[in-house]
Order: sequence, then structure tokens, then C-alpha cells
Amino acid sequence: MNALERLNRKSIRVTDLASQYWCERQMELRYLYGDKVTKEEKQGRKIHEMLESETNVPVLLEPKSYADYVYKMLYTDHMALGALAQNKRTREFQIFGLMDGFNLAGKIDELRIRDGKLLIVEDKTRQSNEVPGESQMLPHKIQIMFYRDMLSALRSGAYTMQRFSEFYGTDRLSLTPEFMRQLQASKVPYDMCDMKKLEHMVFSQIRMLPEISGSLYIRYRNQFTGDVIKLYKFAYDEKDVQGAKDYLLPYWKGDREAMPVPKEEAWKCNWCVFFGKQCKVWWKQQALKQ
Ligand code: SF4
Repeated sequence: MNALERLNRKSIRVTDLASQYWCERQMELRYLYGDKVTKEEKQGRKIHEMLESETNVPVLLEPKSYADYVYKMLYTDHMALGALAQNKRTREFQIFGLMDGFNLAGKIDELRIRDGKLLIVEDKTRQSNEVPGESQMLPHKIQIMFYRDMLSALRSGAYTMQRFSEFYGTDRLSLTPEFMRQLQASKVPYDMCDMKKLEHMVFSQIRMLPEISGSLYIRYRNQFTGDVIKLYKFAYDEKDVQGAKDYLLPYWKGDREAMPVPKEEAWKCNWCVFFGKQCKVWWKQQALKQ
């Protein structure tokens, strides 16, 4: 049984891949025992919502079924791509992809067009104005490298619309009458109220995106003020992504169990909600120190 089947999931979130670089076992425990949202994460989400409202027209649709949910996801991407074409900047772009047969899903924080190239920017919030250390930054780098990889596959057609349709089942989905009423009330053009037409539209918008920049950006913000602490720029390297896949895949394939942090990183356990409860790998050792 592979990890997705064990965790009762259909696709891997890119944030899961990133979390594996912090602590793989913690990532798995969050699925098994509940994904508790911390105060810091709540504050981070507020900042993301504030930034999104600066660039994108809000999509105020309330899905009533799975079909409505898939439609809203595509429609939000369609609007985000429209904002990008118009303002050279957009936020919260849903993205899809594949990793050795496993479906991936994620959300890019920001896309910009500068000097004819498409830039990917990831926002991370911090409790203080301190710049993050290497072990904190590594998961963020992994996340944005996967976004670059997935966006490139969508743009080139390596990830096809057919694959998307098969995975989300768009050929056999129909919208609920209540949701159709919402679309009409929101003045969505009639021909766009059709799932397949919208799907075609979004995939052709993506195919027309400019060349993706080889530079990736991580922007750290203070979670209370929203002020930028530091903007990191680094180069995308295909070999790094392949190396990450080689490390991550054996877990998803079920070839190895979720790994705890190594001994030299046991300090991470002090901030882990599972420490001493569902995970006691470094419990005794940490207790002896006190
Ligand atoms: S206690 Fe430590 S090793 Fe265990 S899940 Fe948490 S961070 Fe990972």
C-alpha cells in the first residue's frame, strides 16, 4: 500500500513535499491525527488574503458539490490569469502536476511578468524580523522549485488537459442548479458556465504564458505587520528537483516509513505538537537534558 492510500488521499500537496524536508513524520502525523492550524499559520493566512485582495477580483462563489468545487477552482485560475495579463501580477494560482504517476496539487502565491518573463514568488511569514536559517529555508526552496517544475509542464503541455480531466472527472460532472444561479447572478458569461469550455480556456491561457524565469523568489514578511523582511532570489536547477524526487518518492511509494528528524535536528521536536505523545523518538533524550 502506498502512502496516499494509507493516508486516504488522492493527490499530494506541494506543501507536503516541502514539509517532508522539515520532518516527514510530523507531516504524516498531521494527516493521521488532525491538521491543527497554529496561531502563526492563521496569522500567515490573513496576510495572504490581504495580498490577494490587492491584485485579484474576489471570486464569491459558494460550491454546493464536488463539481461546483472543481468549476470554482478553474474559474478562479481563469480570473487570476486574466489579472496577470492585465496587471502583470496575480496571486493564489492553483496548480496541478504529476510526480512519477502521483498527482500533485498546489497554489502559487504570486506570478509576475517582468521583462517578458514569468516570475514565481512565494511569500512566507515570520514571527520576528529575523531572517530564517538554512533548515527553515530548505522546505520553502523545495516548494517553489516544484511549482516551477509543475508550471513548466503545464505550459509546455507535458501535463495535459486530458490528464487533468481524467483525474478530476470533469467529463462526467454537472453543476448544481443553485451554483448555476450563483454564476448567473455573478454575471459569468453563459458559454463559460460550461465546465469543459472553461477547462479548455484555462489550459490555453496557461499555454500562452510567457517563458518562465530561471530565478525563483522567496519573500519573507513579518506576520504581524506584513512588512517585507527579506527577498531571496535563487536559481532553479532541474537536477535539484530530480534529486528531491529521488528522496521523496520512496516514502510515497510505500518503500520506506516516514522518517523522524535526525539526532542533530532534534531541536525541532520542541515545537512539535506530537512530541512525547504520538512521537517519542527523541523524547527520552530531550527529557534527560532538562
Ligand atoms: S517529535 Fe520530532 S521527530 Fe517526532 S514528529 Fe515531531 S518533529 Fe518529527
